[in-house]
Amino acid sequence: MASTVKSPLIVTGRLPVVRFRSLLRSDLVHGVTTRTAELPLNGNMSFMVGDAPDEVRINRHAWADAIGYQADRLVLGRQIHETSVVPVDESHAGSGADSVETSIRRVDGLMTDTPELPIGVMAADCVPILMYDPVVGAIAAVHAGWRGSIDGIAARAVESMREQYGSDPGDLQVCLGPSICSSCYQVGEEVVDRWRGGPYRRLADPVSVTSEGLYFDLRAANRGLLTGSGVPDSSIEISDICTKCSNGSMFSRRGLGARTGLFTSVIMLQRDQGGKQGSRQ
Ligand SMILES: [Zn+2]
Repeated sequence: MASTVKSPLIVTGRLPVVRFRSLLRSDLVHGVTTRTAELPLNGNMSFMVGDAPDEVRINRHAWADAIGYQADRLVLGRQIHETSVVPVDESHAGSGADSVETSIRRVDGLMTDTPELPIGVMAADCVPILMYDPVVGAIAAVHAGWRGSIDGIAARAVESMREQYGSDPGDLQVCLGPSICSSCYQVGEEVVDRWRGGPYRRLADPVSVTSEGLYFDLRAANRGLLTGSGVPDSSIEISDICTKCSNGSMFSRRGLGARTGLFTSVIMLQRDQGGKQGSRQ
């Protein structure tokens, strides 16, 4: 894939954070948490995998400091592998930041045009997608597992940005975060049948058949959904970090088991500090 690039792993203080080149801008804060022995629970961000909540809270504050947002303002959805993408604003600040109970219910995508409001998605093999529209000043954070990918959540997010903020898909910068690679993602016939019977089958060819079985390329499926929605291919940055074969630097359900932790991909609009990419500091 031409637009697949190595995402730089940036160490801020002692914590490694994944960042995208195309989102390194003075009007944005963003980052993807990783799996690291520097933190309790290896840096798990999720309350939903049976870990001690107080240790997860320590991690949520540590990662917020490393990425550069206020932990108590983070907005998270309670993801259910569907395709709902909803707008959030100042009234939602902190929803899901400190407990699952306060998170936005039944959504797999959040979007906002409110500055200083961090929005995030959780993953551990599924594709986290961050979107940025520099023209209208809006962002989105989307979770795309195989169900969401087949049901077109990335396309739904582009359409929702257009409806809510007037975003032109041609203006969007979109980044696909660390996720399971096609070589690691063996799937059953159900996945292949649903893709081939679904409405987006002509947009990508994510299925490969080998002597070992069926494999599904979540990144290719989402790239197809995005270009099919009018996002220029040159505006899509895809992390080459595989959650499963990255030597334990990311959480992976397939690699580490169903009760493994989750990492979070966060994006926030920042009031422009002046100057591009910190060049006027
Ligand atoms: Zn892999």
